[in-house]
Amino acid sequence: MEPYELTITEADSLLAEKKLSSVELTRSCLERIERTEEALCSFISLDPDQALQTAVQADRRRDRGEGGALCGIPLSIKDLLCTKDRTTTCGSKILENFKPPYDATVVEKLNECGAVIVGKAAMDEFAMGSTSENCAYKIPSNPWDIDCVAGGSSGGSAASVASGQVLGSLGSDTGGSIRQPASLCGIVGMKPTYGRVSRYGLVAFASSLDQIGPLTRDVTDCATMMQAICGYDRRDSTSVEQPVEDYHSFLSEGLQGVRIGVPREYFTRGLDPEVNQVVMNGVDVLKSAGAEIVEVSIPHIDYCVAVYYLIAPAEASSNLARYDGVAYGFRKEGAQDLVDMYKDTRSQGFGPEVKRRILIGTYALSSGYYDAYYKKASQVRTLILNDFKRAWESCDLLISPVSPTPAWKKGEKADDPLAMYLSDIFTLSTNLAGLPGLSVPGGYSSSGLPIGIQLQGPHFDEGALLKCGFNLERGLSLERKIPAICA
Ligand code: GLN
Repeated sequence: MEPYELTITEADSLLAEKKLSSVELTRSCLERIERTEEALCSFISLDPDQALQTAVQADRRRDRGEGGALCGIPLSIKDLLCTKDRTTTCGSKILENFKPPYDATVVEKLNECGAVIVGKAAMDEFAMGSTSENCAYKIPSNPWDIDCVAGGSSGGSAASVASGQVLGSLGSDTGGSIRQPASLCGIVGMKPTYGRVSRYGLVAFASSLDQIGPLTRDVTDCATMMQAICGYDRRDSTSVEQPVEDYHSFLSEGLQGVRIGVPREYFTRGLDPEVNQVVMNGVDVLKSAGAEIVEVSIPHIDYCVAVYYLIAPAEASSNLARYDGVAYGFRKEGAQDLVDMYKDTRSQGFGPEVKRRILIGTYALSSGYYDAYYKKASQVRTLILNDFKRAWESCDLLISPVSPTPAWKKGEKADDPLAMYLSDIFTLSTNLAGLPGLSVPGGYSSSGLPIGIQLQGPHFDEGALLKCGFNLERGLSLERKIPAICA
């Protein structure tokens, strides 16, 4: 086995036992990147020299008997997490040359752990999309079939972890952007509860929905990364002051006394029969592990797409107002006056999907329409949250599909925004209700593409999700494979 194929947990043991050094591990990942990046396009920027320097320091730290599980582990981070003096593009031309003057809190935390940040992962522009095809720089490929999408918007993060380029990644999830690419690429992805992870230094898309979370090769690694990034931060006013649990303590076998809800509305039209089969198999596995299975209802689920695609663009339209060519990134030179400079900068700096969202959002927030659209959507959002609260009376967790289908071919939905939006149907509710969600590999389609299973739980019950995910992983015992990448 090559070092790049290890999980974080395995690499940590070898590093601790001095059977492997971080420099060797980082070299192995960098070589893997060199061999596969042309086909995969997972990275917007790479910094191999910096990575090796960090690895040297991590080895020294370990030599002194210091450093935790992430010390010396090569990771990627989505290119919307601010990195001090390192370009942070958000997948957009408008931030082409943007070098933030500070690190995001999660980046600070990874640095403190001694993690080796190898590069910044490709993503849909401003995290708007479900395939990463809206990236202004590179479109990541699915490691299992490079003609297929890696999912989105954290597609580069997912592709880099699934393909062995790095051992783990951080992404962001506003409506599914961690869970869906994790599912499509055959890895684990967690969206923590809103407020659990600081959003300080995460470039905002839709502030009431955005959360940062890990993408890893297994559930144990997910717990490790969660441990590193969770916690209160006074610099994010929405971060919650609640002690962080010991996530590894939940990773034990057996689900006696755990009630798993199967929300009937998630298993209807549009669901690919193979996805249905994988999720139902997951239900059986959890039952064998001792869980009680109950049928539940989330009656307002049908409204999720409409509600999300009003609230998210509305918040985006106001968040993105700051990109006007004055303070950040790209500016179109040669304009006659200030208004023309704004217009030219924004017309040329933003891609079509971002413009579409700014238009929808501005419209939904404008006086005369605000009550009919934004306010109504916010009210229905509360109904969706209430559906979950009611569900928690009869069950502890929900199991469902992540994506209605396995990965699709690049270009297939690129010109059809509605089809693209509909593919988010199963993930949006988690963000609208502020809940934690986990995507765990569940199996493969007949054409060999991965299919994930989603778990959703009550606020701050990440531990229960990890426990259930761990049992799912154990029970399914899928062979851990890193796909061969053929260009
Ligand atoms: N696919 C959804 C969108 O396009 C969600 C994106 C996300 O979670 N960042 O908005």
